[in-house]
Amino acid sequence: MSIIKVADFEIKLSDPRDNMQKYAPQVLNPKKSIDFFLQHPHYFVAFNELHLLMVSSVGGQTELLYQIEPKLEELTQVLAYGWKDLIGVFIQRLAPYLQSIQEQVTSISGNDDEIKSEIAQRVSTFMQNPKNLFQIVGELPLPMLCLSQKSIPALLSKYILDNYRKYCNGINPKSNLENYKKIDDSLFYLYNAKVLYPMFSTSICTNRFEPHLDFIFSDRPLREGTCRYCNAPLIVFNHYIVAEPYARLKSEQKDISYLIASYLSIVTSRALECYPEILIKDLREEEQVDVFIRNWEKDLTAILECKIRENSDSTIETKKNIIKTDVIQLKRKMKNLAVNYGYLVTNLVFNTKEEKDKLEKDYFKINSNKKKIYLIARVGNENLLECMNKIINDLGAREDSIS
Ligand SMILES: [Zn+2]
Repeated sequence: MSIIKVADFEIKLSDPRDNMQKYAPQVLNPKKSIDFFLQHPHYFVAFNELHLLMVSSVGGQTELLYQIEPKLEELTQVLAYGWKDLIGVFIQRLAPYLQSIQEQVTSISGNDDEIKSEIAQRVSTFMQNPKNLFQIVGELPLPMLCLSQKSIPALLSKYILDNYRKYCNGINPKSNLENYKKIDDSLFYLYNAKVLYPMFSTSICTNRFEPHLDFIFSDRPLREGTCRYCNAPLIVFNHYIVAEPYARLKSEQKDISYLIASYLSIVTSRALECYPEILIKDLREEEQVDVFIRNWEKDLTAILECKIRENSDSTIETKKNIIKTDVIQLKRKMKNLAVNYGYLVTNLVFNTKEEKDKLEKDYFKINSNKKKIYLIARVGNENLLECMNKIINDLGAREDSIS
């Protein structure tokens, strides 16, 4: 365990590799992808025994989903079987091959960017070799092999669509087509930032009479396009694997701490020094803190607690009860560590500013002139990172225009 001394505090890093500089800055312009980090791990596809986390996305001509969906249903109904189980088996069989490629590459070279592009290249080469595909498919249980050529891409598309709906509902239970597009864009953005890499893609064309289906392995996800048989616009389905260390941080619900620490540090040109996921030792007490922030110059300190709930859109009564408990914990840490500010960051969404202000007024009082405690949460469609301006101002820093 390494220890960093910051004024009166001793900061213990339990794992020196958990180093913000190495991980979080890869998410360039996090305002575009913040929803991913506010999402509870429950909304991802997880194979815990393989330590894999995946996410699905649907894009292209999604306005015509209503027209295509009955066709997908029809094609997937040819099976009396639980098709979800079969697709699960397929993905589980495929995953270790991808993981072993990732491990081989990681053990031979050093630079992060080089490693990632090497992985993408090897995955793509692996997938394009029919012998390898046969190896995976050949290991599948018999019913999977009996599927017609059309059924496999249809099943996979349906699997991706169902997972994507679940993911979108986790971000916004009132999700509509517009949200679908926005969320698909933000996942593509995370692919560009190398947080996600594509496992496979499928597409279905919007030909009203005879939609054509395709199943593609590639190191690039499918975006929009037209059918290679009939030129009709495509609806595209992508299944991504969440790259390390993001998968592990997401499963442990620590990714949001890294993102916020990185964001605050970068937009203030490091006027704010931020330490995510650390143990801090004051004179007597030791506390685990999600993010510790200090402005050296102004001699101000703050701690952030990040709480990601499975249901971000609960009733006001539920929100009250959740927040009441979280505030008690935050106040205890503030007292033990003698910091100036405490912030409770949550993915809960408030319908109106009044609703949020009232809750803050009722529960965020503190009997000290020198200490202040606040709630950082979204009202409606607000971007949570915009709400961080409060922290930047409180701690006497300013946001640089280059952000
Ligand atoms: Zn077509």
